[in-house]
Amino acid sequence: MGNGGSLLAEQLALWARVGLVYLPRPVKAVEAEAPEPAAEPEKFPKSDDGVTPLTVLPPEGDLFSEGTRTWADLAACQADAAGCAKCELSRTRLSVVFGEGAPDARLMFIGEAPGADEDAQGRPFVGRAGKLLDKMIAAMGLARGEVYIANILKCRPPGNRDPLPAEAAACRPYLEAQINLIAPEFICCLGRHAAIRLLGREEPISRLRGAIHRYNERTRVIVTYHPAYCLRNPDSKRDVWQDLQVVMGELGLEPPRR
Ligand code: URA
Repeated sequence: MGNGGSLLAEQLALWARVGLVYLPRPVKAVEAEAPEPAAEPEKFPKSDDGVTPLTVLPPEGDLFSEGTRTWADLAACQADAAGCAKCELSRTRLSVVFGEGAPDARLMFIGEAPGADEDAQGRPFVGRAGKLLDKMIAAMGLARGEVYIANILKCRPPGNRDPLPAEAAACRPYLEAQINLIAPEFICCLGRHAAIRLLGREEPISRLRGAIHRYNERTRVIVTYHPAYCLRNPDSKRDVWQDLQVVMGELGLEPPRR
C-alpha cells in the first residue's frame, strides 16, 4: 500500500473511533427545480396605538371539500347533521353540537370539537373555555348571541383527543354550509386544530397567528389561541386580545365603555 493507502487507513480508523461505521453512497445530483418556499405568513406590523394593519393571505390549496352539499338554510343543515353517521364519533356522542348564534353574524368563532360539557348540553363552548370565550366576546363589545360559534367537528372525540383528519373531512360539508349561509366578514379560529383544518395549512400556530388569511371573497380569517390554552397559560390572553383588536379594527367595533 502506498502513502495514500495508509492515509486512508488512518482516516478510516479515526472515523471508526468516533463511531462512523459506514459512509453513505454519494447521491447522484438530480437536476430539479428548487421547490417554491412555503409562503411565509407576514406578521402584523405593529402600529403605535397597538392596533395592527392588514395582511391578507390567499388560501392555500383547495379549501373546499369535494361534492360540497348545499342546504337552503341553517335549520335544514342542522337537521341533516343531527342524524349524521359519517364517522365513528356518531357511535360515542351524546349530541351533535351543530353551532349557535346569529344567522347573519359578522363574526364567527370556530373551535376544535365539543368537549364533555358541550356533548352533554348540545351547545358549543359552554364549559370553562366557553366562559372565557364569553368574556372575550364581551370585551369586543358584542353579545354572545350576536356572533356565531361552531366547531370543526360537530361530535365529541372520545377523551377529548385531537380531531382526526378523516373526521374533519367528514364534517366539513356542514361547516362549509354554515360559513356560506352565515357569510361572516371574519372567522376567528380558536387554536391550531381549528386553523389547520379550516385553512388547510399544517403549520405551527406561531406561523398562523399574526396574519389575516382569506377563506373566500367575503370572509377573512384570523387565528388566535384556544381559550382552553389561555386558561392554562394566562399570559397568552394578552396575545389573544391583540388578535381580537385587529378584528375589532376591521369590523369597526369599539370596546364597551365601563
Ligand atoms: N373546545 C372547543 O374547541 N369547542 C367547544 O365547543 C368547547 C371546547
